[in-house]
Amino acid sequence: MLIAILLEHFKMVEKFFICPHCWQNISMLIDTSVEKQLYIEDCENCCNPIEIECEVKSNEITYFNPQPIGQ
Ligand SMILES: [Zn+2]
Repeated sequence: MLIAILLEHFKMVEKFFICPHCWQNISMLIDTSVEKQLYIEDCENCCNPIEIECEVKSNEITYFNPQPIGQ
């Protein structure tokens, strides 16, 4: 029962977007249990780092802003 409750609070949503480096359609998993998040993840296609700014409300992504960094 406790495990079921914990799993309920940990929800990952697959978000599709265009990579700001290579302009390919890629996807990343977003943890929708965190309301505001800012993190860096590498593109699955070109491996360049992307800064992801994301806001979540009621398990829905309300704001998603991928920015290219480095080069
Ligand atoms: Zn890319």
